[in-house]
Amino acid sequence: MHWADVEANNLLTRGRKHLINTGITPSGTLHVGTLREAITAEAVRKALSDKDADVRMIYLVDSWDPLRKRYPFLPERYEAEVGKPLAYIPCPCGEHKNYAQHYIQPFLDSIKELGIHCEVLWTHEQYELGRFAEVIDTAIRKKDAIARILKEVSGRDLPEDFFPYSPRCESCGRLTHAKATGYEHPYVTYQCACGHTGKADIRKADGKMPWRIEWAAKWKVFDVTCEPFGKDHAAAGGSYDTGVRLAKEIFDFEAPYPIPYEFVQLKGKGQMHKSTGSTVTGVDALRITPASVMNYIVLRVNPSRHIDYDAGLGILDMVDEYDRVEGMYYSGVCEERDRDLLRAYELSQPEKARPSLPLQVPYRHLVSLVQITDGFEGVLATLHRMGAVPDPVSPEDLAILKQRVECVQYWLSSFAPDEVKFAVCECMPSCELSESERCFLRELYVAMEGVEWKGEAIHDAMYGCAKGAPIGARGGFQVLYKIFCNQKQGPRLGFFLSTLDRDFVMARIKEASC
Ligand SMILES: [Zn+2]
Ligand SMILES: [Zn+2]
Repeated sequence: MHWADVEANNLLTRGRKHLINTGITPSGTLHVGTLREAITAEAVRKALSDKDADVRMIYLVDSWDPLRKRYPFLPERYEAEVGKPLAYIPCPCGEHKNYAQHYIQPFLDSIKELGIHCEVLWTHEQYELGRFAEVIDTAIRKKDAIARILKEVSGRDLPEDFFPYSPRCESCGRLTHAKATGYEHPYVTYQCACGHTGKADIRKADGKMPWRIEWAAKWKVFDVTCEPFGKDHAAAGGSYDTGVRLAKEIFDFEAPYPIPYEFVQLKGKGQMHKSTGSTVTGVDALRITPASVMNYIVLRVNPSRHIDYDAGLGILDMVDEYDRVEGMYYSGVCEERDRDLLRAYELSQPEKARPSLPLQVPYRHLVSLVQITDGFEGVLATLHRMGAVPDPVSPEDLAILKQRVECVQYWLSSFAPDEVKFAVCECMPSCELSESERCFLRELYVAMEGVEWKGEAIHDAMYGCAKGAPIGARGGFQVLYKIFCNQKQGPRLGFFLSTLDRDFVMARIKEASC
């Protein structure tokens, strides 16, 4: 059974009404790995929904978290913003409402594209609305018990003056500098390091709970029954363990069912964007492959296993696997061990899976086609000429093809290694060919005259000629790359030549062989 269905069944033993909580602190650009949480949560939501449970999901943007430090990517003026809540700091580009929105908006756009059904909530608004007032009051009244729990679970001593609420200084605007000096509902009096003394109203956005306590408080406030989180929080004595006890002993609430997940690691060469120099972001990931493939990359493995995300050549293998599983999903023919992959495929569709097999044009082929032809229309015309797609292509399939072409174009310009790049030389490049190379080309010309103009047939003809020739198969392929692309390597030759005009190919071979 697919792991999302296993988790859904586990949840159903607790009841039929569920709220899945996910979230993130938008302190900077979000790495591709941050998509894992939302994709994992959505799969469980879908699995529960398929079993007719009453399920909702929220995405909590931690916009009320303070800016921890001036990160290297921030201009100097942000030094003055350290300690202030992210929602109250100006956005770096000037086009968003605030700092938090600047970094989270691309991510929110991404989760929409991935088909994630969630209600987005901003913690600063929840504080402003007073939704945490009651839990803050409870926490302050039971602060000694909280201190004891935190110490017992984490083994760490807390400072003498521990207080489960940090007032936001109304003078300097920081959440990190004021010390509480007293409490009389609903006011916390404080003294700030900047010299200001004042009082914070717990019913307003005048302060914040420390995050471990806030985490458990959120469960209570939103009635959370399930939460996926990075496995670092799941360590013994870690924040989930403290959360469980805080929820139960302080807030009288049963902690949500946990789904700890492993991290996404970037693997191999080419994990830096060629023009921006930044690592693979969530936005990049959705421009490299369609959303369904990104979902599949996450859902094909159990959350307890780490994922190697390879934005270089690995992407081609990943899309090949997706296409293979898609084929099995629609044929219904698969090995028993692949059953879970079919469910992963189904859960990966942002909309419902289509009634019949969508058009599949392999990424590897598009990588060649995009470099040979001019834009999407050129790719389509070539595919038609090759008889590789039906005529006409249905509007749904056309949309799929168009998206793939755009993704491949983006990949070639951003993360693709140089070895897959090439251009067809319009005229014969000036290269020296040996007599044995020319001899091979003359034989190849004859062999190719009668060949069917399809990738495999061309490949067989080339291979047949080259392996018997003194230059060998490798030498044969190299000479062809030389005369068509003026380089030593290139795309898969058979398919590549089949995409070119037959007369052009034959004329070039003849010219080079003389
Ligand atoms: Zn901005
Ligand atoms: Zn202050």
